[in-house]
Formats: sequence, C-alpha cells, structure tokens
Amino acid sequence: MAKLKGKIALLLALILSVSFHSYGNEEERTNRDTVSALVITPTNPLYKSISTLSGEKIVSMIDSLLELENIPIGLIKEINDYAENQLLKHDFYNSLTNYYENSAIPSNSTYGKWDTRNISPYNESITKNDTSLVLTLTDKKNNCNFIAPLQDPVVTSNFGWRHGRNHNGIDLDLQVWDPVRASFDGMVRISLYHPGYGRVVVIRHYNGLETLYAHLHRLKVKAGDIIEAGQVIGLGGNSGQSTGSHLHYEIRYKGKPLNPKHLISFKKNELLSDSLLLTKQKWNYSILPLGLKYHTIQRGDFMFKIANRYGLTVNELCEINGIRRNKVLIVGRKLRIK
Ligand SMILES: [Zn+2]
Repeated sequence: MAKLKGKIALLLALILSVSFHSYGNEEERTNRDTVSALVITPTNPLYKSISTLSGEKIVSMIDSLLELENIPIGLIKEINDYAENQLLKHDFYNSLTNYYENSAIPSNSTYGKWDTRNISPYNESITKNDTSLVLTLTDKKNNCNFIAPLQDPVVTSNFGWRHGRNHNGIDLDLQVWDPVRASFDGMVRISLYHPGYGRVVVIRHYNGLETLYAHLHRLKVKAGDIIEAGQVIGLGGNSGQSTGSHLHYEIRYKGKPLNPKHLISFKKNELLSDSLLLTKQKWNYSILPLGLKYHTIQRGDFMFKIANRYGLTVNELCEINGIRRNKVLIVGRKLRIK
C-alpha cells in the first residue's frame, strides 16, 4: 500500500507539473496551436523517475491504478503509451506469420480452434509464447486487400477506457440499412444474435486477425461462409445493447482487442501500412505500423513545430497519432509523421 501511495504521489506530481508547465511556458502561450503542447525534458525532475522505469514496472503501475476508485484515465493512457515505447526497444522478430496455410480454416495453426457459437473462445495459452511478431495485412499479388467496413465512417467513440470500462472497439456512425463490409478476406466464424452485441458477425482472416461487426440490423452471411474483402456481411442497425444506430467494430488478434486506429486511418478509409509489428503486453498487444516515418521528440519541440516541419497541420499530426492537442510530449518518444 505504501508503494502504491508513492506511485500515486509521483503521478499527482506529474499532473501538477504538467499544469504548471501549461501556464508557465511563454512560447506555448504566444502561439495558439501550441497553447497546450507540453514537454517533459530530461532536466525536469520527473523525467528521471519515469524514464528509468522498465516496461514491466510501468505496466504494474497501471495495474495498481486500475484498482483505484477514481481512475485517472488520461494518465493511464500516457503511461501506457510510454510503456509500449519502452517495450518496443527490446524488439526481436521471432516469427513471421504466413499469409496462407494448408487448411481450409484461416489461421488454423494460430488458433487451433474453430468455434461458431462463442464470440471469445480463446484462452491465454495461445498467446503465452508470443513476444513480437510481424503481421502482414494485405497481399496485393493475390488480390487480398483491405476494404473499410463503412463507406464514410464517422468515429463516434474511440477504443480504450470509456465511462469507467474498456471499450474494445471503435464506434462508427451509420444509418439503419447501410451496408457493412468485410475488412479482409476470410471465413465467417460467428453470425448470430448476442444480448450485448446484438446481431453480430465475426470473421477470421488469413492474416491472423479477427474482425467483429456488432449491432447489425440484418445478417447477410452465416458461419463457414468464405468472404472476400469488401463483401457486404450485414446491414447496419441498432440491435443489442446500443443507443442509436452505429457499427461497433473490433479488430482482434488471438482474442485480444487491438485499437483499430493503430491499423486504419478512418479519415482516409485506408490502412496506415501493409504490415504491423505486434508486441505482446501483459493483457494485449501494442501495434507499430511498419514502413511509417517517425519523429523522435527533441528538447524544445512542441506540436506546431513538429507538424510544421513535416508539412502537417497540428490536427493532422494528432489524427495520425490518435492523440489530443494537449498531449504531453516526452523527449525521446516517437510521433508518427506519415
Ligand atoms: Zn462500441
């Protein structure tokens, strides 16, 4: 408990330091675009206490924070981002996922199980030996592409902690009857009515991912159907536990939810890159799209400066990284720039 109190004190100190910075920095005050861009430099006394923690320590710190009654969600996200970064330093590519296998069932050797009744049938044993792996998303040679689930997606709720619980997907606005399309080639594993998800389709893909489409009005496929990317698998709706018609869209790997925004730009309705580096964390996988360019945050950087350098607006920079304009910039961390 004393340990936990110490951690909370550190975190509170971080919050205080951050709010102090936001009012104390002349540079940030003079430029509208950088009003809330904050930097923790190596000279900040807090920098050391955070940067010397190992990924595992940070993860366990997040764990203990999650047990609190009032969870500082923004802070958890910050620390989580940092933990992912720390863990990525120890990358080693220990497996390359094959796109196709010698089985009628997609990614059969990865899962070893085909369950058409349970949406989440996998246990921890299938992930326990994972460290880092590269996942191929598309295979243009064989015409296996990505198609966005909706034509003009408007994100209404993001992945992550929402209202005190985990939102394992992303919500996209739609009108009832709008066609919903399969993201990649694959086979339908689930097509049924579920009390929470409503009419829901889960597709297993050849690239190892599973995608889930919930709250549908009509199901257009059945378990076992072989699907091509872009095929209409259902019509959008409001079934199950849903307020207002929308698509709840999940991307999973071995049963663990991935942040769809780390794979897909919903603004452009296309993949961020053709392959991903997945790194196993305590309870999920972090994602690094491969082949993208990154900017390493330097001392004296602020949002507008970084965006401007790469010909982006601050809004574009935030969109690419899935961050808010008031993101705390920590020296040494990486921002995606295209
Ligand atoms: Zn949702």
